[in-house]
Amino acid sequence: MIKLIGDYHTHTIYSSGFRKEGKHAIGTIRDNAEAALAKGLSEIAITEHGPGHYLYGVRKKRIPLMKSEIDRLNEEFIPKGLKILLGIESNLVGLDGTLDVDEKLLKYIDFLIMGYHYGATPKTLKDGIGLYVLNPISKIFHIGKEKAKELNTRAYIKALGKYPINMISHPGSKAVVDIVELAREANKYGTALEISAKHSQLSVESIKLLLDMDVIYMVNSDAHRPEDVGNVENGIRKAKEANLPLDRIKNIEIN
Ligand SMILES: [Zn+2]
Ligand SMILES: [Zn+2]
Repeated sequence: MIKLIGDYHTHTIYSSGFRKEGKHAIGTIRDNAEAALAKGLSEIAITEHGPGHYLYGVRKKRIPLMKSEIDRLNEEFIPKGLKILLGIESNLVGLDGTLDVDEKLLKYIDFLIMGYHYGATPKTLKDGIGLYVLNPISKIFHIGKEKAKELNTRAYIKALGKYPINMISHPGSKAVVDIVELAREANKYGTALEISAKHSQLSVESIKLLLDMDVIYMVNSDAHRPEDVGNVENGIRKAKEANLPLDRIKNIEIN
C-alpha cells in the first residue's frame, strides 16, 4: 500500500495577488490542514505563489501574518499528528537565476519551491524577453525552442546555486528545460524534482529519461482547493507508468 506522508505543495486564498482573496485558490490554511489531517498526512506545506506574480502571488506583508497563523494552528494540529509548514512557490524572474524572494522572506519559511509561471514580473526587460516572451512564443510557434530551453535550464541551475531550494515544482511545464541536465544539478544540491499531480510535468517521458540517475522525487497535489489536498494519484500513476521504483519518491511510504 502507498501512503502519502506529506503534501508539500498547496495553495490557499492568500495566492491572490492584488485581487480579492479566493480568485486563484480557495480555502484557508486551516481548511487545508483539516483536509490533510482527514487524509492521514503527517505534514502539509502551505506554498503560495511568490510575491512577484501580480495576479496570484502572495502579498509580501502577509508572510509574517501567515507565519503566526501557522504557529497558532500548529499548537492545535501537532498534538493531532499533523505539522503545518510555511513554504512558498517562488517564481524564476531572472536569467541569472533570481527568484522573487528576499533574505527577509526566506527567514520565515520552512520550504522553498522554485517554479516558473507566466505573469511573474521579470527582473529586467532582458529577463522578460528571455523568460517570459520566448517561452510562450516557442510553445505556440515552435521557434526559438532550443534557445528557450537553453536559457531556462541555465537560469534554473543558477538559482539552485543561489537559494536553498527544497524542490522544483512541475519542472518543464510552461518553460522547456533540459531535464537531464537540470536533474543532475538539482541532485548536487539535494533539491527534489516534483512529479505534479496537477501539471503535465514531470511527464512519463521525462521520468524515463532520468531512470538511471540519482534524483530525489516528490509527488504533490498542487491543490488550489482543500478537497484536492493529498490527491496525488495522477503523479503516482505517471511514476508507475515510467517504471520508477516508488521508493525513490521521498514523501511516500510503501508497505
Ligand atoms: Zn506552479
Ligand atoms: Zn502551485
